[in-house]
Amino acid sequence: FRQALDTLRASPAASIDHCEIALLANAERPDDMRQALQDGACGVGLYRSEFLFMSGEPPDEEQQLAYYTEAIEALGGAPLTIRTLDIGADKTAHLLDFQALRSNPNPALGLRAVRLCLREVELFKIQLRAILRASARGPVRMLVPMLTTAKEARAVRALLDETRSELERAGQAYDAGMPMGGMIEVPAAALSLESFAGELDFLSIGTNDLIQYMVAADRVDEHVAHLYDPQHPGVIHLLGHVFETAHRLDLPVAVCGEIAGDRRYTRLLLALGLTEFSVQPRAVLEVKKVINETDVGRMRGAMARWREQGEDPRFPTLVQYLDHAQL
Ligand code: PEP
Ligand code: MG
Repeated sequence: FRQALDTLRASPAASIDHCEIALLANAERPDDMRQALQDGACGVGLYRSEFLFMSGEPPDEEQQLAYYTEAIEALGGAPLTIRTLDIGADKTAHLLDFQALRSNPNPALGLRAVRLCLREVELFKIQLRAILRASARGPVRMLVPMLTTAKEARAVRALLDETRSELERAGQAYDAGMPMGGMIEVPAAALSLESFAGELDFLSIGTNDLIQYMVAADRVDEHVAHLYDPQHPGVIHLLGHVFETAHRLDLPVAVCGEIAGDRRYTRLLLALGLTEFSVQPRAVLEVKKVINETDVGRMRGAMARWREQGEDPRFPTLVQYLDHAQL
């Protein structure tokens, strides 16, 4: 299978009916980035910056800038999407020992990601400075995790503006047009995209978290793993709603959760209207192969029939129904 994929490296990620699909990588290591580019990825759609904080001393501004610059150089002009710090819940950073994290009875519903950053503003601003300074060295986009309200997005924007003024005064270069996007991982945010429209330049759906919050099953608890199902009708309904609304609002939208890189779900995501996937580096070729073997128009037609007629008794799952429709 790997060998067959090798021939795919140079071909574009386009469907049988010529829909161009953007394939990006979820990557932190420069080697992974280079590999993903070789396989045809057009940039990094998710750089999980918390990996810098999870062992050793937390990096200061200069160290963060050095890491981001290394990534920018590995990408040679392709965009780098840096996600701001997402610690808390299953992502612990031992050296960032906040009382509010330790005493939390339900970490997945507690102070994590942007919630923590808006409370630990000094820590957050160090990162904002490093990201802005990195943006002067290559195409950088900033992505904010776990947004629940537009007010949080506005608060991040305000801090970003403040940081820009500080850099300006210090004579430090940055890209004034650096886009700021938001991760859609909280169901209430997914259902109220309109309120975020003026605040964000792009969206990326974090299905790992979005699904855990929709089905109320912890993503790391094996005892409830059977409920963690991307094909739950509620999940499919919400994903379709997000793609449609984002399209209407003219907001670019990607999926960067694990399902984007799981070829079992590629056709499902295409059928729902996704045009930008950010996947684990190893999955770039596999996902491209499925895209190349799919007629997106046919998938959308099959999805419309499935919605109208309900489940087809011959096919236990929607994914099987779509695969059959492609035959
Ligand atoms: C997600 O939640 O889908 C996501 C991409 O972020 P993480 O897995 O890092 O929480
Ligand atoms: Mg997440």
